[in-house]
Amino acid sequence: LIELRGVNKHFGQLHVLQDIDLTVDRGEVVVVIGPSGSGKSTLCRAINRLETVESGTILIEGQPLPAEGKGLAKLRAEVGMVFQSFNLFAHKTVLQNVTLAQVKVRKRGRAEAEAKGRRLLERVGLAAHEDKYPAQLSGGQQQRVAIARALAMDPKALLFDEPTSALDPEMINEVLEVMRALAAEGMTMVVVTHEMGFARSAANRVVFMADGRIVEDRVPEEFFADPRSERARDFLSKIL
Ligand code: ATP
Ligand code: MG
Repeated sequence: LIELRGVNKHFGQLHVLQDIDLTVDRGEVVVVIGPSGSGKSTLCRAINRLETVESGTILIEGQPLPAEGKGLAKLRAEVGMVFQSFNLFAHKTVLQNVTLAQVKVRKRGRAEAEAKGRRLLERVGLAAHEDKYPAQLSGGQQQRVAIARALAMDPKALLFDEPTSALDPEMINEVLEVMRALAAEGMTMVVVTHEMGFARSAANRVVFMADGRIVEDRVPEEFFADPRSERARDFLSKIL
């Protein structure tokens, strides 16, 4: 579903993505971990074309990423992204947040979009909050709205960039629960996270990045039991 071949990117002198090869099949959950600055966010952003790359190919269902215009809006609907900072529209209600792009990008009628929005809010446990504004919600609730908003576009895949790292500890689980349910239903997901419990329980593969490279790409049981690289052993010893 998602395929990267020989992808490279620099920020000035910094080689932030170095010969990245990565394939994510339909229904797979790939957790990306690694030290700060290793290129995890840049990788996610490249898949969604929030960053351009210098060489290599990125294919979604065999198609290269569209460069601009309508194709790009469609790509971002089909490969949704959930950020660390919830990125909701502050001056729109919860229900408006989960309906606007359905009308604009998916060209749905308002009633249909609202019905779908309400179903998704119910699914993430927020049916009672549809008329509130983001600032009236907790961080965990805002992040669940952000997930519902991405789901409203019927994405083929979802990218998550540290979706719980801005949350207070007691709210982390309510977001991870929603993500676990999505994974169990077969949603294709790329998840940058420091939540190793989620990686162990929900991931099909763990991708460990360091210095812009994919150093290990393995099933979680093997990776956690026996990391092959010095970098991964060092990283795990610091966070576990
Ligand atoms: P973290 O765990 O801290 O989120 P990360 O693995 O997500 O780190 P990236 O955000 O992908 O890392 O950044 C990789 C490197 O690229 C970092 O050294 C960062 O400072 C640099 N970088 C990221 N975005 C830019 C930018 N727009 N311009 C210049 N340098 C950037
Ligand atoms: Mg990052």
